[in-house]
Parts: sequence; structure tokens; C-alpha cells
Amino acid sequence: MALSPEVCIRGAGIVGRTLALLLARERVRVALVVPPVAAAKEDIRAYALNTASRALLESLRAWPDAAHATPVREMLVNGDEGGRVQFSAVRQKVDALAWIVDVPALEQQLADAVRFQPQVEVVSEPVAAPLTVVCEGKASATRDALGVSYAVTRYPQHAIAARLEAAQSHDGVAHQWFNDHGEVLALLPMGGVQSHSVALVWSVDQLRAPALLAQSADEFNAAVSEASHGVLGPLQLTSERAAWPLSRAIADRWTGAMPQAKGASQTWALAGDAAHTVHPLAGQGLNLGLADAAMLADVIKQREYWRSVGDPRLLRRYERARRADVLQMSLATDGLQQLFSHSMGPLPVLRNWGMRGFDRTRLLKHWIANQAMGLKA
Ligand SMILES: Cc1cc2nc3c(=O)[nH]c(=O)nc-3n(C[C@H](O)[C@H](O)[C@H](O)COP(=O)(O)OP(=O)(O)OC[C@H]3O[C@@H](n4cnc5c(N)ncnc54)[C@H](O)[C@@H]3O)c2cc1C
Repeated sequence: MALSPEVCIRGAGIVGRTLALLLARERVRVALVVPPVAAAKEDIRAYALNTASRALLESLRAWPDAAHATPVREMLVNGDEGGRVQFSAVRQKVDALAWIVDVPALEQQLADAVRFQPQVEVVSEPVAAPLTVVCEGKASATRDALGVSYAVTRYPQHAIAARLEAAQSHDGVAHQWFNDHGEVLALLPMGGVQSHSVALVWSVDQLRAPALLAQSADEFNAAVSEASHGVLGPLQLTSERAAWPLSRAIADRWTGAMPQAKGASQTWALAGDAAHTVHPLAGQGLNLGLADAAMLADVIKQREYWRSVGDPRLLRRYERARRADVLQMSLATDGLQQLFSHSMGPLPVLRNWGMRGFDRTRLLKHWIANQAMGLKA
């Protein structure tokens, strides 16, 4: 890149790379910081991505092929005492409720797209630019160095992820079970509509997680089969298992002036997990991060011709627009997690009764499903 960059993006996860591509499309010169690190293990997770995320990634030609992005045509959410909520793509009048996307495939698509984008220069160290966007994930060192408070509430849970092969085809159905300790098991359809492959995300008590990770494959298969009530028949582990500690957090400031810069000529903004983290039970963390990237790119695109990309007024527009959305999702997922964390008195009966009642409320269900799909109406 002959001219100096206008935006420096620190962190080349899915949010950082997506933002780099969105800005480059608007002819903004981007430096993307990728520090030289030892090759990490391949991520065995699969993400539930919503309609808005799909449209965004497709517009960047970074959406994985059909074998790596499986449509969810139905979602069955089961309570601990017979409560059940069913979401259906047909009833929502959409092609899919979400797509279960293979994480390494998506990362590869984005890495390839960045490689062929001349407006994006990959650098190993941060460089000075009118705007620095911090996309370093939840443990962001830059955010901490900027003195931003990121109050973390830890859940006493770890999420175990793995891939399994089921005896029966998943038929495009995503299953989720809540138990009375707030543990949540999800089996998500993968490998195309008729496949038998499923991605597991099992949020379990942090004290139980090490034992589940240490179990033999046969013991683990049996534990998952039992927790999933055998809906897909016997299950076979096909990957390693990995676990993530779970927390909820939101940064108190998302934008500001660079401390070492003179005046407000250099500014910063946070995006993705560097700005917020939510419990994965609703599969929304990355969807929120991609919506941040889309919004930030949009305010930069729509700016008056005389404003710099790092103009504090633009950044405030971005922060205002995204913070409300993130808070709403954070409260909703936390509320759901809390609802199933207690088994005292009449609570189990009430929450399952509530689920059955909710299942019958067409309009509210339609509205909630639209929110989760990233459709506002
Ligand atoms: C078990 C589990 C399941 C999940 N399932 C879903 C789901 O189904 N749907 C969904 O939408 N979300 C899901 N999420 C959330 C999702 O994983 C995150 O929201 C998403 O990965 C955040 O992306 P990011 O790019 O902001 O951060 P990250 O993915 O953390 O990427 C940050 C990048 O920055 C780099 N970095 C860090 N520090 C520096 C530095 N100092 N300088 C330069 N680079 C740096 C890192 O190496 C990394 O590449 C799940 C999370 C978990 C734990």
C-alpha cells in the first residue's frame, strides 16, 4: 500500500477480517494487524449464524459452500420438565432459521478474501492511523491499555464443543435441552441437510467439565446420548473435545481518542468480543460482532465527505446504534440462563408451563425468532 492506512484493525478474527473487507470495499485503506504466533489448533466449533450475518458474508464472497453451512429448518428447545418451544422456518416464512457454519471453513474464506484485497495490508505490529479498531476478542490487551472497564460476570460453567456422528440423519433440526442446573446441551445440524453430523455445544458446571473432557469416547458418547434423550440414536465422537469458560461482559466505553495522539486526530473503537461477550446458549456472540462491523463500516461509508474516518461524531453514532442491541441480547440470554439455574419451589413447574404458553403465542414467537435471525421486523 503506497499511501498510509486510514484504519488500523487490531485482531484478525472473524470480526476483524470482516470489517477489513467491508472498509476496503469502500476504498478505505486498512492495515490489519496479525501478530506472528505459533499455529493454533483448528477450532472445532460450528457457529449458528443468522440471516443478517449470512447476507453480510455473502456480499463479501466469504460465505462457505453448502457442505460447510447447513440450514436449520426447525429448532426444538426443551425444558427440564416437559416444556418445549418449537421454531420452524416454514412458519417464519424464511428459508432457514439460521445456518450452522463450520468455523475453520469460514476463517479460510475470510483469509483468502483478505489476501486478494489490495486495500488491506497485513502487518505484524500496530501502525498509527486516524482510526484504530480493536477486534482482539474478549481478552483484548489494547482495550485494557486504553483504560476501558470491561466488567466481567463469570458463569460457573464451561462450554464443551465437539463433533459427533449420529445414527439418524439430523434432517436440518437443531435440538437444545436445558436441565434444572442451568446446563444447556445443543446438537446442531452440520454437513448438509441429509447428513448425520452434528456439532455439540454443552454448557456444563465448571466442576463437571474436566471429567467430561477426560472420559473415554465411549463414555462421552453415552453421556451425550443420555442428555439428548436418544433423539438421534447412538452418537459417535468424531473430533477432539475442547472447553471454554463462559462469561458475560460489556465495555463501559466503545470509542474514544487515542491517549498518545494530539487532540482527537486519532481515535479508537471496539468491535466484537472486545466490546461484549454473551453466553453462547442463544448462538449470538459472533452475530452481534458482525453487526458491529456492518454498522461501523456503514457510518464510515455514509460520512460527510469532509469528515475523517476517525471523526468522534461518527464513532458516537456507531456506539449508540450498537450498544442498545447488544444490551438487549445480553439481558435476554442471561435471563434465560438464570431461569434454568434454580430448582427451588415451584420454579421448574412455572418455567416449563411458561415455555408451553410461549410456544402457543404466535406473534411473540415470530417477533423473538426475527430478532434472533437479525431481522428487525
Ligand atoms: C463454545 C462457544 C460457542 C459459540 N457459538 C456461537 C454461535 O453459535 N454463534 C455465534 O454467533 N457466536 C458464538 N460464539 C461466540 C463467538 O465465538 C465469538 O463471539 C466470536 O468468536 C468473536 O469474534 P471476534 O473476532 O470478536 O473475537 P475472536 O474470535 O476472539 O478473535 C480475536 C482475534 O484477535 C487476535 N488478537 C488477540 N489479541 C491481539 C493483539 N494484541 N494484537 C493483534 N491480534 C490480537 C486473536 O488472536 C484472534 O485472532 C460461541 C462462543 C463459544 C465460547
